Amino acid sequence: MTAAPDGLPPLAALETARLDWQRDDTGEEAPRSAAFDDVYFSRHDGRAETEHVFLGGNRLPQRFADWQARRPFVIGETGFGTGLNMLVAWACFDAHAPAQARLHLVSTEKFPLSREDLASARWASWADLAHRAEALLAQWPEPVAGVHRLWLDPRVTLDLHFGDAAERLALLDGRVDAWFLDGFAPAKNPQMWQPELFAAMAARSRPGTTFATFTCAGVVKRGLAAAGFAWRKVPGFGRKREMLAGDITSPPEDPRRTRAPWFTPPAARPPRHVAVIGAGIAGASVAAALSRRGIEVTLIDRFDRATLGETHLQGALYVKLAVETNLQSRVYLAGLLHSRRWLAWLDPDQRLWRPSGVLQLALSEKEQARQARFLAGHPLPESVVRGLDAEAASAVAGVRVTAPALDYPNAAWVRPLELCVRLAASPGVRFRQGEVRALQAEDDGWALTLADGERLAADQVVVAGASEAAAFAQTAGLPLQPVRGQVSQLALPEGAPALERVVCAGGYVPPAADGVLNFGATFGPGETDPTEREADHAANLAELARGLPDFVAVLRAAGADLAPERLTGRVGVRAASPDKSPYAGPVPDAEAWREDYAVLAKDATRVPDVSGRHHAGLWISSAHGSRGLASAPLCAELIASRICDEPLPLEQPLADHLHPGRRLIRDIIQGK
Ligand code: SAM
Repeated sequence: MTAAPDGLPPLAALETARLDWQRDDTGEEAPRSAAFDDVYFSRHDGRAETEHVFLGGNRLPQRFADWQARRPFVIGETGFGTGLNMLVAWACFDAHAPAQARLHLVSTEKFPLSREDLASARWASWADLAHRAEALLAQWPEPVAGVHRLWLDPRVTLDLHFGDAAERLALLDGRVDAWFLDGFAPAKNPQMWQPELFAAMAARSRPGTTFATFTCAGVVKRGLAAAGFAWRKVPGFGRKREMLAGDITSPPEDPRRTRAPWFTPPAARPPRHVAVIGAGIAGASVAAALSRRGIEVTLIDRFDRATLGETHLQGALYVKLAVETNLQSRVYLAGLLHSRRWLAWLDPDQRLWRPSGVLQLALSEKEQARQARFLAGHPLPESVVRGLDAEAASAVAGVRVTAPALDYPNAAWVRPLELCVRLAASPGVRFRQGEVRALQAEDDGWALTLADGERLAADQVVVAGASEAAAFAQTAGLPLQPVRGQVSQLALPEGAPALERVVCAGGYVPPAADGVLNFGATFGPGETDPTEREADHAANLAELARGLPDFVAVLRAAGADLAPERLTGRVGVRAASPDKSPYAGPVPDAEAWREDYAVLAKDATRVPDVSGRHHAGLWISSAHGSRGLASAPLCAELIASRICDEPLPLEQPLADHLHPGRRLIRDIIQGK
């Protein structure tokens, strides 16, 4: 597949695997691929084979036992299949690794199993794998090409990279300690065992990274050697006399960084204590992501959300995908799927959210044409997004709608304030009410000066406020615009009709919870006024009536008081970047960039061989606009992964797209 100019292959449809069950020569039923005419594993001794080939071949029991690093041990795999290898590796990690160690699994899969097939894979009959298999099944992602992060256990993370192994590993931002070279046999699946695969593995290895594979095929030996791996034949499993194992001593530099050296991340120094400024969804999700990695967090905010009590606020987890998918749309698609999985993992009892689904009405002819073009071209499964005519949309909304719509059946509504409070209560997170006035880099970290004069020390700092995120000397050059939004709230009378889905058009309205209907929000770029306005309630009502006239009529008939002067509401001030994508990553040293990359103003092709200089240990997550529920949790994982030297939960071009220095480099190139 050819890469688009932005370095990311087009979003293509994924085929799911076709699984057969066949008795093997031991009389056991084995899962088999109809397309490849090869088995996933043998039911009789599949586990023993995995332990011999992949665990033994990489010396994992010993390496796990010796693991003292603060970053996780990273395993990379080609061909996730049923997940047997990874689950067995996890069990081995639990048996051998010290208590504070963490494990990060990265696996590619071009033909993911359907959830039903995964459930029937029956390795679950190995007693110690059963609960692990359940954790996997509970978070099994939608069949969408891209990176899907799963939180299998407090110490174990799995990133599934759906798509072709060579293509996906070339997009991986992260380094691996041990490779499992699986995938059907080279004779049955020659397309996978290509030089590009071995080159991508080498470029994502560390010095001393090992590999193991069941095969001894010449094409594999030659490919590995050409990429810089040393291989040796070792005894194979069972009737297979030999297999390959080996390592790489001098992995190559990441070739992509020479094209955009400014995005080279700063060297990672996993911290013990991080200060996070801003306890909204951006900051609270960063705090929780760091807490899960055993890092202490001081979370600082002017407002203590825990004291707000019942706000009845509801936000919508939804995105608007572009017709021609661009990087921004890809980030939001990844964010939507990520947040949805994250919420289900974080709050399985659904106290903080509901998977109500979201309808995006096409009220105008222009929007109808846009949605039609989107539906004609997109490769996403119906469980992610589908088109509905007005009648079908009415059926799922639970009230009559008069326009066709895009339906996101798995999208959700969320109680954002309660979610932030929950995240702020993660272990090791200490909340401090206050206002940070200045940040000062010190020899061994950062000093924060608070408005009350207190000075607070931290190893690293994440700035996660809205437009005030640009208030520090180090972030002052970041273009951030405040955007005021007012939501209206209406106490519903008994017997008022219920909405079943979040409905969005100009604004959004989620199904009422606890008898309160939220609707809005207004959109006031450049405004920061925190006071509630009657005119804004009137505007929200007009928008509600435009999108759902029947609903408003039945609300009135049921006795709802829709006078703007009697509505209550809440005002929020969010932040937006000029290109409307969030900022998530290390804070560039703007002065150093202007100096190092000045030549680009004259000739943008003369890329200096200088890595981007950053304010070491200073990070930002901001500009989430009104889509923070979709973008902030993913950006939090991105930042926490960078801080801890872990593989990223997003393809490298998407991580670069979110880099806080992207505007700066563009300005330098344009001579601004
Ligand atoms: N590791 C698996 C396990 O533990 O169950 C068994 C792997 S199975 C033998 C091979 C897997 O490789 C299949 O799931 C197949 O769909 C996948 N595969 C084949 N070609 C691929 C490619 N080019 N890129 C990524 N995955 C591929």
